[in-house]
Amino acid sequence: MISDMLKEAFSSIVGQENVIDSQAGRLVYSYDATPNYQSMPDIVLAPRSTQEVVEIVNVCRENKIPIVPRGSGSNLCAGTVPVQGGIVLLFKHMNEILEVDEENLTVTVQPGLITQDLIQAVEKQGLFYPPDPSSMKISTIGGNISENSGGLRGLKYGVTADYVMGLEAVLANGEVIRTGGKLAKDVAGYNLTQLLVGSEGTLAIVTEATLKLIPMPETKKTMLALYQNIDAAARSVSKIIANKIIPATLEFLDQPTLKAVEDFSQIGLPTDVEAVLLIEQDGPAEVVVRDIEKMATICKEEGAVSVQIAASQQEAEALTTARRAALSALARLKPTTILEDATVPRSEIANMVKAINEIAERHQVDICTFGHAGDGNLHPTCPTDVRDADEMERVEAAFADIFDKAIELGGTITGEHGIGMVKAPYLEWKIGAQGMAVMKGIKHAFDPDSILNPGKVFTENVRKRLVVAK
Ligand SMILES: Cc1cc2nc3c(=O)[nH]c(=O)nc-3n(C[C@H](O)[C@H](O)[C@H](O)COP(=O)(O)OP(=O)(O)OC[C@H]3O[C@@H](n4cnc5c(N)ncnc54)[C@H](O)[C@@H]3O)c2cc1C
Repeated sequence: MISDMLKEAFSSIVGQENVIDSQAGRLVYSYDATPNYQSMPDIVLAPRSTQEVVEIVNVCRENKIPIVPRGSGSNLCAGTVPVQGGIVLLFKHMNEILEVDEENLTVTVQPGLITQDLIQAVEKQGLFYPPDPSSMKISTIGGNISENSGGLRGLKYGVTADYVMGLEAVLANGEVIRTGGKLAKDVAGYNLTQLLVGSEGTLAIVTEATLKLIPMPETKKTMLALYQNIDAAARSVSKIIANKIIPATLEFLDQPTLKAVEDFSQIGLPTDVEAVLLIEQDGPAEVVVRDIEKMATICKEEGAVSVQIAASQQEAEALTTARRAALSALARLKPTTILEDATVPRSEIANMVKAINEIAERHQVDICTFGHAGDGNLHPTCPTDVRDADEMERVEAAFADIFDKAIELGGTITGEHGIGMVKAPYLEWKIGAQGMAVMKGIKHAFDPDSILNPGKVFTENVRKRLVVAK
């Protein structure tokens, strides 16, 4: 509990209008996009500057109050659930583009900026910020950095980490550090920028970021390859890459996902096939035409029953928008939707998809699978109902088997959604006891009193999707 005196102190830092203290107001910030994790914060604060963040941290440090930084709460690992109470820190006022530097090809932003707003703003200047999580309409740059989010363009352009050049961050002791900068080359000491990327708000609070931009690709083409056999789709993925083509997008949807997406988006997607690949290439026109033609040939050779190239930019947009809506579409099927992101080397995609289907059958649960095939990053998604305790047991057991299988195939428990509370019980499976010890040492060095997003990443007692009410 936070005393009235401390609440007064917080209010004098951010202004009463930027404090949420009511039961109903705090309830909104007791959960995020992750199903069935909930815990009430004691207070919610929306600072307007780095200086205000520093002052808040200083009060929290002295009084050992947990701080949970929060962008839009769209994470899927219960990363912003304030499991030990304390403060939820909102960045809604710190959402400016501070500078677009066309000479150095960088953009400097505040953490609360919405991802899509950044992408659209730099596109107007002929520049390209590639990381495009499907949630980009709502997610913030601070959240993207802290989860190291990926997206549909990850295969060719990489993930958020590949675009973070410098950070300003407030440490748990209230000090402000600046890491990296606009430099294309910088090897001065440990790479603290990249250490903070993906650290899920557990090491520092990001208050500013300098991001890399690249020139906007000249053109883009989109195609859809339809399959009656998942193996054929997986073979096409491997053969495209083996032919030294790196498409901008190479996405996989299985039949149940396809059906849900078509029901949701109504754009005339075929629903009578086993799988589809959504493929995009961008770049100079002649390269795009050549690559699309070659990929169409490969898909047909590997058994695609049909290959359709989008006739117009609007048709292409409709296809990618429909793919981005996959989670929302599947969420309409049952009261609860659990989406995971087990990732394998792309050569193991077919084995992983088959294993997911076998595991679903063994545990008698429904699992639909879609994802970034080019990255080996799959999203097995289970439409379920948390009120059915028996089914939830089986769902949890099925996902544990899926993570186990991913690791057996040389993969990982999360490709882009992070650990948070959801994957904490499985982290050691991936990185081993020594890896855990090193990570705990880093956490202790940054945050000895564990006030920054406590209960995340290292929590070992949250095996089940528990509601943690306070
Ligand atoms: C429909 C849907 C589609 C999605 N698609 C994708 C996808 O394609 N790819 C993908 O990678 N993810 C995806 N996600 C997951 C999610 O959107 C991303 O993880 C996103 O980056 C979270 O951004 P956010 O602003 O909502 O962050 P939040 O959920 O608010 O926070 C995420 C983490 O970042 C920390 N954090 C936030 N701001 C700061 C800060 N300023 N300083 C320090 N720590 C901070 C939080 O403490 C938390 O640990 C999807 C989610 C949904 C609901």
